Amino acid sequence: MPVVPVVPVVPVVPAGSAPRVASSTVDFDLSPELAELQQSVRRLAQDKIKPRARAIDATGEYPTDIFEAFRQADLLGLCLPTELGGSGAGILGLTIAIEEVAKYSNAASLMLLLTRLPVGPVLIAGSDEQKQRYLQGIATGKVRAGFGLSEAVAGSDVAGIQTRAVPSAAGEGEGWVLSGIKCWMSGVVEADWYTVFAKTGDPASRAHDSITAFIVERQWDGVSVGRTDHKMGVKGVDTGELVLDNVHVPAANVIGEVGGFRLAMLGLNAMRPVVAARGIGLAEGALMYATEYVQQRQAFGGTIADFQGIQWEIAKVAVDIEAARLLTYRAAWLADQGKFTKEHVPFLSMAKYFATELAVRASGLAVQLLGAAGYMEDHPTELWYRDAKQLTIVEGTSQVQLGLIGRGVLAHDLWWD
Ligand SMILES: Cc1cc2nc3c(=O)[nH]c(=O)nc-3n(C[C@H](O)[C@H](O)[C@H](O)COP(=O)(O)OP(=O)(O)OC[C@H]3O[C@@H](n4cnc5c(N)ncnc54)[C@H](O)[C@@H]3O)c2cc1C
Repeated sequence: MPVVPVVPVVPVVPAGSAPRVASSTVDFDLSPELAELQQSVRRLAQDKIKPRARAIDATGEYPTDIFEAFRQADLLGLCLPTELGGSGAGILGLTIAIEEVAKYSNAASLMLLLTRLPVGPVLIAGSDEQKQRYLQGIATGKVRAGFGLSEAVAGSDVAGIQTRAVPSAAGEGEGWVLSGIKCWMSGVVEADWYTVFAKTGDPASRAHDSITAFIVERQWDGVSVGRTDHKMGVKGVDTGELVLDNVHVPAANVIGEVGGFRLAMLGLNAMRPVVAARGIGLAEGALMYATEYVQQRQAFGGTIADFQGIQWEIAKVAVDIEAARLLTYRAAWLADQGKFTKEHVPFLSMAKYFATELAVRASGLAVQLLGAAGYMEDHPTELWYRDAKQLTIVEGTSQVQLGLIGRGVLAHDLWWD
């Protein structure tokens, strides 16, 4: 028998020094505060939103009772720092809350999203005075805001906007005069103020520093709501035009600096996980509903759930939901650390792209698994299916996100060695 040489075990760690361990900074547990937030919003969503979702869609009326429920539960200031009356839960907190709400109503989840979208540029670059004046009331529900970037001629192509801001005439006070029409604005009717982007430079210029962000109050002369849209989904929170007819805006209402278009992009980058959360929640709601259904539905001497083909479809969406959650929570974590500048864009865009495309896929599967019943209004599946589609369009379409991810890889912002 050959003699096996005894190899001495060489300690990796020199005697006496602290053991070297792998990084312990990755933690997949929610903090106790976020876990509690998740549980409390889950209960609120089950008790107050689930029973209202169908009626919100059917009537298309803004659900003031849901807004009030959010207000009472202190959910309107999740993203605001405590000094502005918020709870300081950040983008991650808002993401987690929206995921719960979107399991039942995407319109209700949009109401929460609107506590951050128009507020983002002010938080990122606004003056202290602007923060005090416009953000304090958001957390208490005293005021609401809307975000005006898109125009009929310019959605993805933001540099093509035509809303103009020209310096006020002498004697009118320092400021700007805004004219133009913003369109498809979520919550335009309920909003008290708007973050509006306008060309301050040459109208024909496509340079980003030709665009500036302003805070515009609803009550000012020349500000009105134009037509509101008839949508295929997400009814209940209106979408429509904001008409600006020679609106005088004081210089103090410029957000950041003149030509600071970058703000729009930074604000939207930070929002990617928040939109993604609407997709994840919708996908979870749809898959849970369809899974319950197929276990009840009798066919071929068993249930629909007995078929391996059905189980595999459920499994594939379950995998995607968990992948989307990981992408989204990481994106939220990045955004909360201020990491929403160019080099982080691919990670943020991935979450939005993947989670919103998943919402369409998962709700489509849910309709399919219920068969004819899934196509009828007796079940929420057709509602989820209609609601899901807007998510791949808003705040940067799927194609725009793919462009951002692709360019990030080409620039090695996303690279694996
Ligand atoms: C329900 C709803 C709510 C909305 N709320 C708001 C809001 O609150 N505020 C606001 O400002 N806007 C809002 N929007 C508008 C939304 O942001 C725009 O619809 C979106 O940016 C896309 O612009 P678009 O519709 O003009 O499409 P287009 O830009 O005309 O795009 C048409 C198609 O071309 C593709 N495409 C465009 N550019 C490229 C490219 N470079 N490469 C490859 N493909 C491309 C798009 O992906 C899309 O498939 C909302 C829209 C909806 C549907």
